[in-house]
Amino acid sequence: MDKGQCCGCRGCEDVCPVQAIRFYRDEEGYEYPEIDGEKCIHCGRCRSVCAFREKEPEDYGGTAFYEFQAGAEDRRKSQSGGFAFALSRAFIERGGVVYGCVLDEGFRAVHIRASDMGTVERMRGSKYVQSDMAGIYGALAKDLDGGREVLFIGMTCQVNQVFKRFGGRRNLLLADIICHGAASPRLFQEYIQYWEGREGRLLGYCFRDKGFGWRNAHIETLVFQKRRKSSDIWASIYYSHHSMRPACYHCNKTVHHSDLTMGDCWETGGE
Ligand SMILES: Cc1cc2nc3c(=O)[nH]c(=O)nc-3n(C[C@H](O)[C@H](O)[C@H](O)COP(=O)(O)OP(=O)(O)OC[C@H]3O[C@@H](n4cnc5c(N)ncnc54)[C@H](O)[C@@H]3O)c2cc1C
Ligand code: SF4
Ligand code: SF4
Ligand code: SF4
Repeated sequence: MDKGQCCGCRGCEDVCPVQAIRFYRDEEGYEYPEIDGEKCIHCGRCRSVCAFREKEPEDYGGTAFYEFQAGAEDRRKSQSGGFAFALSRAFIERGGVVYGCVLDEGFRAVHIRASDMGTVERMRGSKYVQSDMAGIYGALAKDLDGGREVLFIGMTCQVNQVFKRFGGRRNLLLADIICHGAASPRLFQEYIQYWEGREGRLLGYCFRDKGFGWRNAHIETLVFQKRRKSSDIWASIYYSHHSMRPACYHCNKTVHHSDLTMGDCWETGGE
């Protein structure tokens, strides 16, 4: 498979009628589909559902752009203006569900489903590593078919794939984040191991600690049993642009199927 043409969204796995697609992890920790030739019935669904290859830019028509800032406390806890959190809260309060990215107990970025505010809290903050979408399409189908109001937040490629699969459903809102790229999950795991080798078990991690202010936006905080450490090593790795998924170097971000897009608007004169 051409790795530059697969963002790892897992959309193809979900539509295969005979479960012929399995994902394997390569040496950089990125997941790729592999077809079992014995099971495949050559129906072509996996190819036609793949949104990553779409290259036609969307006509933005009358799209308007707004600036949003949540209250001071929510801004402090969220990564940017707190819009993702505020939007998620609105869905939960209406009885809906939210899909977004958390760091799990092993510090792996994964997409999960939230039906309560405790889980939404865990989604706060940008994780500068690729999020795994395993199991997400099945859960989305169940919620959407059951009539729940669903908010899905993710990278542009993930949102485009969810749109391709479920676009047009009236109970689905899609929000993508302006995306600089998805760093290697394996590299990040090795990075965590490096720190644990030095300082003992890692108890907490924040990719971008706003406690250091807007201008020092790329300082991470690591919490160990005996002390906290600050560093800019992961930011240096991430912004070196040597650690991204191959598809990120071929990504056509002019294709947006989201209902709204979120990003940092730091130069607009706000705080
Ligand atoms: C890897 C990455 C690169 C980014 N690059 C840019 C950029 O170049 N320019 C720019 O303007 N903005 C960028 N952003 C977006 C920005 O950092 C904020 O995430 C966005 O503005 C929302 O801020 P918030 O305060 O509303 O989010 P919060 O309330 O803090 O919530 C964060 C939301 O982001 C989602 N999320 C976090 N990490 C991931 C992930 N790895 N994959 C999918 N979803 C995730 C969570 O599900 C959550 O809904 C990037 C975000 C990420 C994750
Ligand atoms: S980008 Fe296409 S081939 Fe790759 S996981 Fe997604 S749907 Fe499958
Ligand atoms: S062609 Fe059809 S059967 Fe074969 S892997 Fe793709 S979706 Fe599955
Ligand atoms: S750069 Fe493109 S392919 Fe890479 S994670 Fe972001 S949206 Fe997906």
